[in-house]
Amino acid sequence: MEALVSVMKVAKRYRLGKENYVHALRGASLSVDAGEMVAIMGPSGSGKSTLMHIAGCLDVPDEGEVWLGGRRVDGLDRSELARLRANEVGFIFQGFNLVPTMSALENVALAAEYAGDSRRDAAGKARTLLEAVGLADRMRHAPSELSGGQQRVAIARALVNNPAIVMGDEPTGDLDTTTSAEIVTLMREVNRERGTTFIIVTHNPEVAEGCDRTVRMRDGLVEGEIHPAEESAPA
Ligand code: ADP
Repeated sequence: MEALVSVMKVAKRYRLGKENYVHALRGASLSVDAGEMVAIMGPSGSGKSTLMHIAGCLDVPDEGEVWLGGRRVDGLDRSELARLRANEVGFIFQGFNLVPTMSALENVALAAEYAGDSRRDAAGKARTLLEAVGLADRMRHAPSELSGGQQRVAIARALVNNPAIVMGDEPTGDLDTTTSAEIVTLMREVNRERGTTFIIVTHNPEVAEGCDRTVRMRDGLVEGEIHPAEESAPA
């Protein structure tokens, strides 16, 4: 089967000062099939976010290839990448990144309007998704009034354009244990019911346990994989 996302031998460096570089990725490779839910773990600075941003078309590599849905995307320009992201990729961030002055409904609808939907269609889709994530009676609330529910709004927003893939960057990082477990369950339900592929950068072992597999990064490389069954097996 052809992978939905393939990052092949990708390198990325950032300039630090005049002649110094940080090598965030040093030839990292990762393939994710459609319908998979994959966790990325590893120490801080190992390149997890950079890899996720490149796989999600937020950024382009210096070297290597990136394929999304059978199409090579690492050579696209900024506006082509933005269009691809709006239609194919959803993002969930640690800090939710919701617009504080807008209601839950407006936050979700905005993403659909940005991808080209009319106001009316966008609002309709937003309503359906907010119901699906358990916020049917709180759609008109502002994010700050939705303690614990903000990441549900962000998930609805990530799904509103029916993306093939959702990228999560520490999506439970700011949540208490109970809310975090609920969010993992919700992402799993979305994955099973809609077939949405998830790639989730996390430090939280419980998030990783909820995924199909976990890849580990170190020093800018994907150094291996752990399947939940192996991790819990006695040493
Ligand atoms: P992780 O997500 O595993 O913590 P990152 O991908 O964020 O790792 O970062 C990998 C390395 O690249 C780190 O040393 C980080 O400081 C550096 N880095 C990431 N983004 C930038 C940037 N925009 N400018 C400079 N250095 C960066």
